[in-house]
Parts: sequence; C-alpha cells; structure tokens
Amino acid sequence: MMSARYTQSPAMLSETLTFAERRMLVNQPKVAIVGAGIVGLAHAWSAAERGYQVTVFERSSRASGASVRNFGMVWPVGQPHGKNYETAILSRARWLRLSAEAGLWVNPCGSVHLAHRPDEWIVLQEFCERAASLGIACELLTPRQIHDLTPAVNPKGLLGGLSSPTECCVNPKEAIRSIPAWLTEKYGVRFHFQTHIAHLESTGDDADVNSRVRVTTSYGDSADFEKAVVCCGAELQSLYPNVLASSGLKRCKLQMLSLHGGGAGWTLGPHLASGLTLRHYHNFDICPGLENLKNRIQTETPELDQFGIHVMASQNNYGQIILGDSHEYNADIEPFDKSLIDQLILRELQKILRLPDWTVAEHWHGVYAKHPTLPVFEASPEPGVYLCTGTGGAGMTMSFGLAEKMWSRWTESPSTQTENAASAISLSFSDRMNSDRINSDRMNMER
Ligand SMILES: Cc1cc2nc3c(=O)[nH]c(=O)nc-3n(C[C@H](O)[C@H](O)[C@H](O)COP(=O)(O)OP(=O)(O)OC[C@H]3O[C@@H](n4cnc5c(N)ncnc54)[C@H](O)[C@@H]3O)c2cc1C
Repeated sequence: MMSARYTQSPAMLSETLTFAERRMLVNQPKVAIVGAGIVGLAHAWSAAERGYQVTVFERSSRASGASVRNFGMVWPVGQPHGKNYETAILSRARWLRLSAEAGLWVNPCGSVHLAHRPDEWIVLQEFCERAASLGIACELLTPRQIHDLTPAVNPKGLLGGLSSPTECCVNPKEAIRSIPAWLTEKYGVRFHFQTHIAHLESTGDDADVNSRVRVTTSYGDSADFEKAVVCCGAELQSLYPNVLASSGLKRCKLQMLSLHGGGAGWTLGPHLASGLTLRHYHNFDICPGLENLKNRIQTETPELDQFGIHVMASQNNYGQIILGDSHEYNADIEPFDKSLIDQLILRELQKILRLPDWTVAEHWHGVYAKHPTLPVFEASPEPGVYLCTGTGGAGMTMSFGLAEKMWSRWTESPSTQTENAASAISLSFSDRMNSDRINSDRMNMER
C-alpha cells in the first residue's frame, strides 16, 4: 500500500470524513488520476460524482503547468459549431456550478471581437449571419454599443464588434489551487502532491474483470486501482513516449503579460479580442472572407504570423488585465522568452485598446500539448489506463465538458447537466449591460 511518504497538504486529507463515509469509500471502485491541472481535476470531479474513490497524484507541491498560466478565459465562441461548441457550453455550465457550490470566482462577462479593419468587419458579419442557424448565441454591435459595454476600446477606426454572452472569466491560479480542497471536502477525493508517478502497469487484460492498474511513484511505492487516467499535460514523454511519438501531438509555447489594471472602479467588461484573433479560432473557418483577412495580415505584418501572435485581454477578480499571446511550436520552443514578442503583443493591443495604465506587472510563458484536429487526445495504451491530454489553447474552456462526456461513456451514466447547459444562456445585449453592471459592482466590492 501507499506509504506515509506522500506529502499531503492538511487541507487535502480526507480526515474530516465521517465513519459512514469512510465505510462507503471502502466499497467504491478506485481510480487514480495523474496530474492536478484542469484536465486531471475535471476527471476527478466527474469520477467522484459517479461514485469512484478518486486519488490524484501531482508531482509538484501545487499544479504549476498550463492550467495556472492562462488567461482564465472560458471561451465557447471560439469552438467550431456542433459537438465542440456543445461540449464547451456544458463545461461553462459546470464552471458556473463550481462557482455556486464551491464559492469560486467565475464572471460570466461574455466577449466582444473588435473590428478595426473592413476585412475584419466582413468576417464578423459573415459569422453572425450563419451563427443563429448553427445554435451559436451572438450579435453584432455598433461602436456606440461597444462603448457602452466597455471603456477599454479605442474608438478610432472602430467599425463594430461581435458580442457573445457565453464567455466566462475565471482566475486560473485560484481555481486550480482551490478546486482540490473542494473535491476533498465534498467527495473525499485524495490528493498526493509532490508525488511523481514514474510507472503504470496493467495487471490484466480488457476481458479480465479483476484487472488492475499498478501505479508506482518515483520513490518506488505502488498501489493498485481499477482505472488510471493520465492527465499529464505536455509531459507525456516520461510515461508513454511511444504513444506520444505516434500521436500527432505538438508542444506549443505561449508568451503572456499582465498589467496592474486601472485602479478601483475601472472594469474591462467583456473579454476583448482583436481582428487578429479571427484567424486563430476555428469557429471562423465558416466565413468566406477569412482568407482575405489572413492574406492581408501575412502581407502587412508577417512578424505576427512568424510568432503566431493574436491579441486578447481579460480582467481577473483583482482587477489585473491579462494580455497575450504568441504561439511557437516544437523545435522553435526555447526556455528563454523573447522581448520582441512582448513588444509585438503590446503594439497590436495599443492599436485597439485604450487602457488606463500600460505598465507591465508580470511576464511569463506556458506550454501546452495540442492535437492538430481533435479537441483532446485520448488513448488507452494498456488495459485500464487512459491518456487525456492535448486540449491545446482550450483546456479551460473544454475540460469539464470533455471529462463529463468521457465518464458518461465509460460508465454509461449520462451527465445530469447536459440538458440544462444551453438553456442557461439567453442574454441579449441589454441583459448583458445589466449583468455587467452587477459584475462591476461585485468587483468593486471585492477590491
Ligand atoms: C499561456 C496560455 C494561455 C492559455 N489560455 C487559455 C484560456 O484562456 N482558455 C482556455 O480554455 N485555455 C487556455 N489555455 C490552454 C489551457 O491552459 C490548457 O489546455 C490546459 O491548462 C491543459 O491542462 P492539463 O491539465 O492537460 O495540463 P497542465 O495544466 O500542464 O497539468 C498537467 C499536470 O500534470 C502534472 N504531471 C505531469 N506528469 C506527471 C507525473 N508523471 N506524475 C505526477 N504529475 C504529473 C504536472 O505537474 C501538471 O501539474 C492556455 C494555455 C497557455 C499555456
């Protein structure tokens, strides 16, 4: 059995469980999860809700990968219509549930894509024309309406925008660090931090109902589970190098910046994205005008394509403005950040935004794994072991929905939240104005 060598934070111990709860746990099937990033936490939640006794192993003292380095944008509008968009909407509903049940800060702020160039405005109009029939909630805004929604947009040359009510803002550092405590308290999920998993081995085959997965740490301790889900982000090479080699997964490095914000009372409002973003998310692939826009950007500013730069801004519950980002792949990834990339991100944002203070507070980078076509890469390298990684730039948006769908499939117990997810979104522009006021009041109170 597992030795006392595991380092557990006191808050993570399930010592608070009653005797009856402990007895119930004894009879629950056991699942091990490797990695406490958003994908691992999403699987832990979905498994625990279905009655599994869940143990999560995380090699660091607290998760420090892509899941704490992102914008905190839950961004359904960026997903291609159909299954991916539906999964993102399901995820969004689960974020809102977390907010209600765990007291996590989740701001349903929505988003606005800005058009400062005619080809950007054409793409937004084309998208909006098609959106309703595809079940995507969005509407076009005039410059005046945008001004009413956010003080942050540069009105010079502004042609209009695309507003979507589905986007939310979370604080990734706080969320990833507080979800484990909530999972422990509510479901008795056990967390072993500072515990690197060195090896997994199946002791049966698919047909063997008694098959087990032996999970071994780098200390050499091991324990057996019915199932193991490996959610190790971009670090697949240490556990399953052969699967990684044939998976098509790429590693991608992104540079990010934060600003202090505009002081008490100044709120960004919705997440903001520039016309450069239209060439980044695949939802806009349905727009005939996209090719022109891509060609213009390649001709005018090839340096943006060279570093995969598009620009977005979000604001967290402390008022900080999070800005990004760039995309460098595989062999181009270096441990050293490029100040040129920071300058280009700021240059592009300063064309479209007017922020009260552009002083940079922090710079950082993150690395994720991305599959060229799938929203997540899944594989079962041996019986009872499942790999889930490769959520690319949408892990915060998709993970809760993806995990729900996977566990529904594995256990044939459907998600209770599927039907309710879409019906919760019906906010028009005027509703948004009211809800933004409420959010802004809440943020002012929290400062
Ligand atoms: C800069 C940046 C901005 C982004 N912005 C957004 C955004 O706004 N919205 C959005 O939806 N998505 C965004 N993303 C994408 C999103 O952050 C990722 O898709 C997601 O965080 C990936 O989660 P993960 O759990 O797979 O990986 P990670 O967060 O990297 O977690 C993997 C965990 O596994 C642990 N681990 C690995 N190997 C082992 C082992 N052998 N034993 C024990 N533990 C192990 C690691 O320590 C790590 O904590 C962004 C990503 C980056 C980098």
